[in-house]
Amino acid sequence: MAFDVIILGLGAMGSATAYHFAKRGLRVLGLDRFAPPHSLGSSHGESRIIREAYYEHPLYVPLVRRAYELWEELEQQMRQQLFLQTGGLMIGAEKSTLVAGARLSARTHHLAHELLEAREIRRRYPAFHLPEEMVAVWEPRAGVLFPEKCIAAHLLMAQRHGAHLHGEEIVMAWQKEGGRIAVTTNKGKYAASKLVVSAGAWLQALARELALPLHCTRQPLFWFEPLAHANYFAPQNFPIYILEHAPNRYFYGFPNLGAGCKVAIHHEGEVTEAESVRREVATDEAIPLRRLLEKFLPEANGALLKTAVCMYTNTPDGHFLLDFHPDDHDVLIVSPCSGHGFKFSSAIGELIAELLTDGAAGFDLAPFRFGRFASNTTTLSRYNYRPESGHLTIATSFMTW
Ligand SMILES: Cc1cc2nc3c(=O)[nH]c(=O)nc-3n(C[C@H](O)[C@H](O)[C@H](O)COP(=O)(O)OP(=O)(O)OC[C@H]3O[C@@H](n4cnc5c(N)ncnc54)[C@H](O)[C@@H]3O)c2cc1C
Repeated sequence: MAFDVIILGLGAMGSATAYHFAKRGLRVLGLDRFAPPHSLGSSHGESRIIREAYYEHPLYVPLVRRAYELWEELEQQMRQQLFLQTGGLMIGAEKSTLVAGARLSARTHHLAHELLEAREIRRRYPAFHLPEEMVAVWEPRAGVLFPEKCIAAHLLMAQRHGAHLHGEEIVMAWQKEGGRIAVTTNKGKYAASKLVVSAGAWLQALARELALPLHCTRQPLFWFEPLAHANYFAPQNFPIYILEHAPNRYFYGFPNLGAGCKVAIHHEGEVTEAESVRREVATDEAIPLRRLLEKFLPEANGALLKTAVCMYTNTPDGHFLLDFHPDDHDVLIVSPCSGHGFKFSSAIGELIAELLTDGAAGFDLAPFRFGRFASNTTTLSRYNYRPESGHLTIATSFMTW
């Protein structure tokens, strides 16, 4: 069968992309080495944060706003809850990257938000024990996405629009043949006009020729039983949060969605490869988090109920990589999201479908191009924006987007 587009990898990005292409009437083939949604990549573990006052940079706000609309549309089509609004707290010192960055995004885009002092946070959410110098940006629209359900929903909707989806089929290679892209798997060979590579943590191994400056990290997740006041952590009483406990060091967590209070450290995971990542979690790996909970959320520091291992695919500046393959503009690389991409996947799927069918997307992808990593050209420093100016500083040239 002839295909217009092949999607390599059907996780967060690939499932959304498959859906948006199929919805536009294109003939879609989606391939995944496992049976998505699965728990071996970057999109599992029951919950993902979605938030709008984006501390990483204000440029993400229009993208996340579109993502909210698309998640809601998907919920309506599926008649299933994919999102739970809890509100969100971005907690840290007033001048911290997190608080200053979230305020900048909120002000730039006129988002509903409040700046709360430690005492007020404690009054509203008694589980938090914060030192007086800490504050938080409160944003009411933040909440939880259910990632496995979101991926399953995108895949189902893609199939309803005619997409062919193959699980348990590993892509080994692709090449140009007679103006089309030929994709070879462990089970067969297919051809299409376009290829979307949304292989997440496996991208490095699949595109070695690009020598991408990516590193994959192993990120353990922990679920703890509340020690006391279990009601403090119920979803109707407790928001999602990120807490910057030292400069540029973060942990984050969720309300108790039934399996305990899920908590994790953002970044700081050991560098790994998708093929060889250590999937078991030793009990002593919980110690750094227990120390943080003891200090900031002591009643969440109960028995360890569950763990999981997930992978971040990180770019040097922490921003996304969404671009055409430098040697072939029929191939689009869609993935490395540095540990904060899930919330956007609905909107990224739509953007990619627009870009490859209409030749232009409704959102400027220039900040996410390969070019920023090339030697002798400018590279973006990691989250290095100047809150007071509203501009992202490019480390080597001080140009701004
Ligand atoms: C612990 C953790 C917490 C996170 N928290 C948040 C959060 O709160 N909010 C947020 O927005 N983001 C969060 N993220 C980031 C977000 O989850 C990821 O950016 C996103 O899920 C990555 O999606 P993906 O499609 O790139 O990768 P994946 O979903 O892993 O998909 C890649 C797919 O490619 C397939 N594949 C790979 N190689 C091949 C091959 N050769 N042939 C066929 N198929 C192949 C894989 O099987 C996989 O299904 C978190 C990530 C982690 C790990």
